[in-house]
Amino acid sequence: MDFIKIIKTSRFLDPARNFAETRRFSEVRVDPLTGHTSRVLDFPVKEIGRENLSGLVEDSRACCPFCPEVVGQVTPKFHPDLLRQERYEKGEALCVPNAFPYDENGAVCVMCRQHYLALKDFSAGVLEDALQCCFAYLKDVVLTQPDMVYQSVNWNYMPLAGGSLVHPHLQITASSSSTNYYTDMVPALERYEREHGRSFWSDLRDEECRTAERCIAATDDVTWLAAFAPMGVFDVLGVLHRAHGPEDVQGELLHEVVRGILRVLGYIDSLHMHSLNMSLYFLLDNSRFVPHLRICPRVSIPPFGTSQINYMKMLHNETLTTLKPEEVCSDLRAVWHE
Ligand SMILES: [Zn+2]
Repeated sequence: MDFIKIIKTSRFLDPARNFAETRRFSEVRVDPLTGHTSRVLDFPVKEIGRENLSGLVEDSRACCPFCPEVVGQVTPKFHPDLLRQERYEKGEALCVPNAFPYDENGAVCVMCRQHYLALKDFSAGVLEDALQCCFAYLKDVVLTQPDMVYQSVNWNYMPLAGGSLVHPHLQITASSSSTNYYTDMVPALERYEREHGRSFWSDLRDEECRTAERCIAATDDVTWLAAFAPMGVFDVLGVLHRAHGPEDVQGELLHEVVRGILRVLGYIDSLHMHSLNMSLYFLLDNSRFVPHLRICPRVSIPPFGTSQINYMKMLHNETLTTLKPEEVCSDLRAVWHE
C-alpha cells in the first residue's frame, strides 16, 4: 500500500524580509485507495477562540420543530406501505421522515429532548439510543424495498456544518442510488483486491498499525485512524471490520463505536471548534465494502468568518488543511487512552 506525499516548494520575494527569497512548503497527499488528493499546507496554525453560541441557541429555540413540546405534532409519520412503524423511538431518540428528503428514503433522528448540547456534553446513552433508532429504521426499509442498499447515517452539527436546525439530529438515507463517495470507492476496492489478492481494509489496518503514524487505536473490531489524505480539517476514520449492515452494530461493538465518537467530539471541543460532519456508511450488497465512519470538524476562518470551503473543495474537489494527520493522531491517541 502506497502513502504518497509529493512535497511542493513555492519561492517568492518576501516583503516582510526586504524582498529576500522565501520558500513555502506544502504536501499533496494521495489517498492509498481512491487516488484522490488532499493538500496539507505549512501555515502556522492560529488557535481558534471559543465562539459564544448563546444567541444562536436561544434564537433557534423559539421555532424549533424538534423540541419535545411540538415534535409530535409538526413532524411527519412514515407511510404504512413502506415501514412497519409510523415513527421509531429509542430512549429520547425519535426517527421520523425528513420533510425535505434528498432521496426516496430520507429520515431524521432527533437525538435528544434538549435543544442544544455542546460537543463535550453528548453522552454515550444519547448517541447509542440515536444510532439504534436509525438502525431500526434502516433495517425496516429493506423489508419492503430490498434495493435500498446504499445506507448511511449522517450528521451536520450546527449551521456552520450545514445543519439547518440547532437541535441535535442525524440524517439517515437508504437509497438505490450511489453517491460519488461509493461510486469512487467500490471499483477501487475491487481493483485493490484483484491486484493484491487481499482486502484493502485489513491491509490498511495492518499497514497503519505497523507504522503507527496515524493509528489512534485498534481492536479486532474497530480501527481508528487519522486519514492519510483527509477529507476535512482532519478526518477521523473508524473502520468496523467485523460488521456488514446496521444490524451488526449492536452490543459491545456499538459501545466501542460510541466511545470512539465521544472521544473525537471531546477533542474537537478542546480545539474550541463546535461543528462537524459525520457519516457512517454501509453498502448492503457488496461484501468488499466494510462499514466505516468519518468525522471531520468544520471551522470558519477569522476575522471575517470566511468559509473553509473555497474553490478548491467546491470546484476541484480537493481538500486543504493546515493540520498534519500525524499530529492529530498523536493528540487523539493521548486522550484516547486517558
Ligand atoms: Zn429544539
